[in-house]
Amino acid sequence: MVYAIDGRERWLVHNYMKAGETDFDTVDRDACIRTILGVGADFKYDIISKEDWFGRRLIANRFRERSAFIAGDAAHIWVPYAGYGMNAGIADAMNLSWLLAAYLNGWAPLAIPDAYEAERWPITSQVSRFAMSHAEAEIRRRGAVPDEIEEAGPRGERARQDVGRLAYEINVQQYACAGLNFGTYYDRSPIIAYDGSEHPPYTMDSYTPSTVPGCRTPHLWCEDGRSLYDAMGPEFTLLRFDSTLDVTALETAARNKAVPLRVLDLEGKEAGYEGRLVLSRPDQHIAWRGNRLPDDPAALIDRIRGAAHPKLAR
Ligand SMILES: Cc1cc2nc3c(=O)[nH]c(=O)nc-3n(C[C@H](O)[C@H](O)[C@H](O)COP(=O)(O)OP(=O)(O)OC[C@H]3O[C@@H](n4cnc5c(N)ncnc54)[C@H](O)[C@@H]3O)c2cc1C
Repeated sequence: MVYAIDGRERWLVHNYMKAGETDFDTVDRDACIRTILGVGADFKYDIISKEDWFGRRLIANRFRERSAFIAGDAAHIWVPYAGYGMNAGIADAMNLSWLLAAYLNGWAPLAIPDAYEAERWPITSQVSRFAMSHAEAEIRRRGAVPDEIEEAGPRGERARQDVGRLAYEINVQQYACAGLNFGTYYDRSPIIAYDGSEHPPYTMDSYTPSTVPGCRTPHLWCEDGRSLYDAMGPEFTLLRFDSTLDVTALETAARNKAVPLRVLDLEGKEAGYEGRLVLSRPDQHIAWRGNRLPDDPAALIDRIRGAAHPKLAR
């Protein structure tokens, strides 16, 4: 397989070893490169770097030990299908950074980063299985090229169409993996106020935007043309789709605990949004939603800052 790096003179050549072949030193790299590129002995090239790697799925049992955290490949590796290794590492860092900042900025207890493992571990495990089953499907496809693939005539034509269709079906999912990017949700977090609603399922390439707590805050365009993500505050944002709703009690409860909260009015923009009030976290996942404020706004603030959960509040 060949990937363009700069599209002109830098290329990434992947050579896959067969099942049972484990010794990298037995590989004739020059022959592999020439075969894969379809070039003869007169073709000249330079190797800038090379890497040998095994496709594996490994997830650490824990992501935290006292004040030490692991993220990225240190915490999880899988076959880099769907281009999702680095993305997952960045998502880990994004999650951990706001939790640590909440503590360092004085509005969350020391244990709030415990939510990091509770939220990221299940996602990581799930994504790793998506990637590995995808890799297995791709390996099966690569190993099943019909003999008549280059044959002239209808048999060859049909074989090429079948191979092409399968390659498309498998690969379009990984190269346009909207489900992995936008559909993942946190369903067992101690700092999210769940309301019993089911999270919508997602696949590698498809998802349903949703305000079920734990989901990614669905994107919309604001009246002034800004992206919702640019209009939200840097920390918590209460999206209010009905400006007649009085939210002072929640603002007061947040202020009492120094939790940064901005209210954003989005009247008329609620299409696809369930809940007149939706509370979005600093990482743009939903912490709570409702059609009116909860009876005890202080308890909600304590939950989202990690002070309500007995383990987190220790
Ligand atoms: C062939 C291949 C293709 C890939 N394609 C994609 C892709 O398209 N998209 C994608 O998102 N991901 C892809 N990935 C995965 C991606 O490369 C990794 O998930 C990502 O690089 C992990 O980043 P990291 O910072 O967690 O770890 P690393 O990149 O491994 O960085 C860790 C760093 O720590 C250093 N280090 C280790 N020990 C110590 C120490 N004791 N002291 C100081 N420094 C230390 C290492 O030298 C290294 O620089 C691919 C991976 C492979 C192998």
